[in-house]
Amino acid sequence: MTQITPQPGIMDIALYQAGKSHVAGQTRVLKLSANENPFGPSPKAIAVAQSAAPDLHRYPSTDHSELRAAIGEIHNLDPDRIICGVGSDEVLQFVVQCYTGPGDEVIYTEHGFSMYPILARQAGATPVCVPETNRVVDVDLILNAVTERTRLVFLTNPGNPTGTLLPADEVARLAEQLPDHILLVIDGAYAEFVRPEARFDAGVNLVDTRANVIMTRTFSKVYGLGGLRVGWGYAPRAIIDVLNRVRQPFNLSNLSLATAEAALRDRDYLDMCRRENAKWRDWLAGELAALGVPSDQSHTNFILARFADQNEAEACDALLQTRGIIVRKVAGYGLPEGLRITIGDEEGCRALAAAIRAFKEGAR
Ligand code: PMP
Repeated sequence: MTQITPQPGIMDIALYQAGKSHVAGQTRVLKLSANENPFGPSPKAIAVAQSAAPDLHRYPSTDHSELRAAIGEIHNLDPDRIICGVGSDEVLQFVVQCYTGPGDEVIYTEHGFSMYPILARQAGATPVCVPETNRVVDVDLILNAVTERTRLVFLTNPGNPTGTLLPADEVARLAEQLPDHILLVIDGAYAEFVRPEARFDAGVNLVDTRANVIMTRTFSKVYGLGGLRVGWGYAPRAIIDVLNRVRQPFNLSNLSLATAEAALRDRDYLDMCRRENAKWRDWLAGELAALGVPSDQSHTNFILARFADQNEAEACDALLQTRGIIVRKVAGYGLPEGLRITIGDEEGCRALAAAIRAFKEGAR
């Protein structure tokens, strides 16, 4: 039989490598590999999800007006400058699809999210990887990498898997110094976890003052709704108008829209999740540092634990697996000595710290 040939370039697209969600031989696992909220979604959101069944024969809203109004109200944004997608992944896909194509270059940084080069190739564009400096995005290195073909720059802030933050003035400098025809996409998947004392701008001010900046956010992390697949973007109206042209009319379900809105409105639950994350993030980083496993100060719901080298990181990962603990190896992100560890609840953090202590003691 003859094989049907795909379009040129399709087979150059790497498949996204998701982290593990189970360990062979372990029935109970402690999953600390996907930056999920250990408390799950707000009980109010779960109640709304459970009550959505009677409407499942109805098509959902095509314009997401209620969810956009709620996002606008909570974040003090113009709902007409918001677009919702199937995870922020879909919003990022709209952006790349609408603004880049064959011959164009898309810049992302060394430890940036692995979907960026995949999305660039899906659009036929060329991904260009720029180094970071000590696991922090380096604005000068990005600016130096700009060529006449550059059409888009991805910035994850705070970073994944680094957890580090690019301060507001540096983000503003990047936006100001990029030529006006290049889009700057500020991916704030972890924005809710940034330390309150940090100089941080999720991108709202830049979107409000510039024509070429887009901010994306997600319900998958702090809202605990990774399985629901809802994200959103905030951009100048002209860009939102463009992105809506490639969006499927019913991209989000009744269930997704109603549940995300309920999660968004439960601010007490959100505060609890952020408080617990902040508390156990510092506790865990302190415990691991005392065991000789340093990490950069994290502004997210994970820490990037750094071991002596790749061998030690892999040996530790193997021991964690024997205890049913799953963390994320990040060699594919240019960090072979690292393990990215999601901040669990108290029990999860204590179990993880005890396992790393056992690993270090066993190694002596
Ligand atoms: N951006 C970053 C930096 C992420 O880590 C993730 C999730 N891994 C996403 C975007 C996509 O999130 P989602 O599609 O679930 O909103």
